[in-house]
Amino acid sequence: MTYDHSNIFARILRKEIPSRTVYEDDYALAFHDIAPQAPIHVLVIPKGPYVSIADFSATASADEITGFWRAVAKIAEDEGLTKEGFRLISNSGPNSGQEVPHFHVHLFGGTSLGPLLS
Ligand code: C5P
Repeated sequence: MTYDHSNIFARILRKEIPSRTVYEDDYALAFHDIAPQAPIHVLVIPKGPYVSIADFSATASADEITGFWRAVAKIAEDEGLTKEGFRLISNSGPNSGQEVPHFHVHLFGGTSLGPLLS
């Protein structure tokens, strides 16, 4: 699938539209979801142009993949979620309801999570 450089997360990465940033490094940007489904609902996105987790896993460099997942774990730790637990979800493609075609991981926590979120 071709990457659409005008998608909303690409625009957030370029700082064309604001987001409530919680973390940023060379590989990842994390920000609060505008429609949170849990007390803590953070989106973590890679800096590179990847449509989905399949695209990211197949085409990103080893450094990007390692850097991204280390950032996800660090954000969970920084948000104080490691001890009580948290959930990661990544929607990919039409059956998942993926709305934004830039790979992202939803990080949920801050309460006892019920069934599926997002
Ligand atoms: O996984 P999916 O693509 O469905 O989720 C996209 C998420 O991006 C939604 O949870 C939506 O609330 C969030 N969003 C956001 N800021 C925007 C646009 C969408 O946090 N400007």
